[in-house]
Amino acid sequence: MPKPFQAVRGMNDILPAESALWQSLETTVRDVLAAYGYHEIRLPLVEKTELFARSIGEVTDIVEKEMYTFADRNGESLTLRPEGTAGCARACIEHGLLHNQTQRLWYVGPMFRYEKPQKGRYRQFHQVGAEAYGMAGPDIDAELICLSARLWRQLGIGDVVLQLNSLGSSAARAAYRERLVAYFETRRAELDEDSRRRLTTNPLRILDSKNPAMRAVLAGAPVLLDHLDADSQAHFEELRAMLDAAGVAYEINPRLVRGLDYYCKTVFEWVTDTLGAQGTICAGGRYDGLLEQLDGPAIPGVGFALGLERLVAMLAAAGHPGADANPHAYLIMVGDAAQRRGLALAERLRDQLPALRLRMHCGGGGFKAQFRRADHSGARFALILGEDEVRTGTVALKLLRDPDGQQLTLSHDQAAAHLCAALDSTSRI
Ligand code: ATP
Ligand code: MG
Repeated sequence: MPKPFQAVRGMNDILPAESALWQSLETTVRDVLAAYGYHEIRLPLVEKTELFARSIGEVTDIVEKEMYTFADRNGESLTLRPEGTAGCARACIEHGLLHNQTQRLWYVGPMFRYEKPQKGRYRQFHQVGAEAYGMAGPDIDAELICLSARLWRQLGIGDVVLQLNSLGSSAARAAYRERLVAYFETRRAELDEDSRRRLTTNPLRILDSKNPAMRAVLAGAPVLLDHLDADSQAHFEELRAMLDAAGVAYEINPRLVRGLDYYCKTVFEWVTDTLGAQGTICAGGRYDGLLEQLDGPAIPGVGFALGLERLVAMLAAAGHPGADANPHAYLIMVGDAAQRRGLALAERLRDQLPALRLRMHCGGGGFKAQFRRADHSGARFALILGEDEVRTGTVALKLLRDPDGQQLTLSHDQAAAHLCAALDSTSRI
């Protein structure tokens, strides 16, 4: 027997048993984003490679070694999106969404990075991103952070810490870069190969190294927060004051830099220690130069992205049941006449009760086999149509989860009313 096909390494199927949790997470995220006035934007999965090289930065892990890049049949270099900010900015510029207006936007979907697959790190993974354009002050930074904090509350996630830093203006970063290079030069022998290369190409990236052997040399590095320009300093102080006033706790992490080049001023991450090594569930910051860098207007931007796989893992570990997708009722039909009547009854019930999840038995079989299916389906009610019920225009309704197994014989309308009352009385009938 040939070996059956397998999914591409690092690209996961989300199976029916898991999708309920995904749906419930996505619904909560959507509701919270809507509560803050964010609108959804749907973007292509593929963009021109140049867009990512120009925005994320040539000398970043993502662009150097993680992108799925290919030439299409026309020879154009395209890339499966590794993140959503670049495409969102591109779309807003292209469609003129930034002319004299602010925007609060969000998107959800798969992202692709050629990384070493491990728990919490995949080659196809899902992000929800939120992006706000046209607002330069710390108020929108604070609002985005409050939005994410609210999301954790709604999801019942408690074990997360907000880490905050400021990367300053590009001028402050340039001055800091020189100081950093001077420091690393004195400890050149301790740098790993990647970092030595970055010393000339992009020394700030060295601070983002995940190599444990680099920890000691990083710990002694000068801190950007000590060398901020006055404007960034004031922005950071006001942001902190706003978060304090809103009761959002945070830790200042002066070593927090992001894996993408476009950030300035505010950067933040929500981190948990419940997921092992891949502990960042949400990361974001301000990117005031990005739109201009993409030949758009000189408009500031700020945003974040959530890693949905990591959030799902947290919810699953906490025993979150997810959205209930079991049928409310299972329709059993015995005999040819019942089968014919059954479809009509099922359709009528669906007309009358749009919220009802009704599974109609298909594929025939005797009462016993059908009843077993009904029981396994998780439904609370079995609706039973046999010869007697067809003759008298009734349907039997049996409570499957009731130890007494009570059974009622009802007219079709009575059955609908009964199910309707059960649907109304509790969200899980
Ligand atoms: P990391 O430091 O973990 O590599 P990053 O800085 O590359 O993260 P971002 O590009 O900021 O991550 O992405 C935002 C969020 O998306 C991350 O905080 C994480 O939750 C999630 N994420 C990023 N890469 C992956 C991946 N390969 N698999 C699963 N989730 C991911
Ligand atoms: Mg990464």
